[in-house]
Amino acid sequence: MAAIHILPEQLVNQIAAGEVIERPASVVKELLENAVDAQAARVTLELEEAGKKLIRVSDDGGGIPAAEAPLALASHATSKIASTEDLEGITTLGFRGEALASIASVADVRLVTRTADALEATEVAVSGGQAAPPRPTSGPVGTSVEVRNLFRYVPARRKFLKTDATEMGHITEQVARVALAYPAVHLTVTHNGRAVYELPPSDSVRARIGAFFGSDLADALVEAASEEPAGRLWGLIGPPHLARATTAAQYLFINGRYVRDRGLLHALREAYRGLLEGSRQPVALLFLTVPPDRVDVNVHPTKIEVRLRDAHLLYGQVLATVRERLLGPGLTPHVTPASAA
Ligand code: ADP
Ligand code: MG
Repeated sequence: MAAIHILPEQLVNQIAAGEVIERPASVVKELLENAVDAQAARVTLELEEAGKKLIRVSDDGGGIPAAEAPLALASHATSKIASTEDLEGITTLGFRGEALASIASVADVRLVTRTADALEATEVAVSGGQAAPPRPTSGPVGTSVEVRNLFRYVPARRKFLKTDATEMGHITEQVARVALAYPAVHLTVTHNGRAVYELPPSDSVRARIGAFFGSDLADALVEAASEEPAGRLWGLIGPPHLARATTAAQYLFINGRYVRDRGLLHALREAYRGLLEGSRQPVALLFLTVPPDRVDVNVHPTKIEVRLRDAHLLYGQVLATVRERLLGPGLTPHVTPASAA
């Protein structure tokens, strides 16, 4: 065995990337989340070859001050938290300060950014783990991050990439998660120069559901809402006859973040008890707002799982709110008694 030694930075970042950057869709997720955190009103995602060749996300958010731009691509560098207390009340989608550094260790990255009070934009780039010195350039207020040749520096990962159609499917899912949670953000997606999604800003989640799942489904969903000390719940739920074979149409957002929470998804399924055949799965989009200090986001590298301090109360709230709505007027024409399930 070799002697113990500190690993080179590029390798450290590649190891971090291994957990978070699995495929083009992972990059799309991180870049879209950064744009949302930057309070962008308009976000454009451009893809070439399903993101394998190019992923570019441009936003009109706050931008990065020129002096800080090189830090954006450095590991463990973030503007979103500064202390342990901050970690206990995360209100942004990002906070680890690792995404851009991870991406820059496995691909070529170029970032152009400008704040509202800057006269010009700043460009920073990393290629092969080597950062080019920042340079002034022209560009609008906001940030554009370009990721080329994903996994160029980790060929083993590259081999796991699937067909363009499959990778586009994963990307679409990531785009949907952001689009559904932030309907006020104008979102444009192109692939190989062709428009894929043009989602105008809207105050309606329903309109976004229509764009991704069709207006038949969007129109059929009904609202369910409740407010309890543990959290505020608002959702659009599908009548039992719309149930599907899989859980793919179950979306749970906690404080604007898409999460998979087995407990709360179980509560959802329980609310349909006796109303669905066999293993059919309900269609539902649930938006939960809880106090930031009651949810620990720092448990999973991609933050797809969180820990809820009031898991028990929220379970009951989801179950009761959805159940009451389902049994309410105009929804369930043929109710089977719950005991028959
Ligand atoms: P994190 O989002 O966890 O802070 P990232 O590596 O994704 O880490 O980004 C590092 C930092 O770069 C962010 O904290 C933010 O300050 C800045 N940044 C990244 N993307 C954008 C963007 N689109 N607009 C403004 N600032 C950005
Ligand atoms: Mg981030």
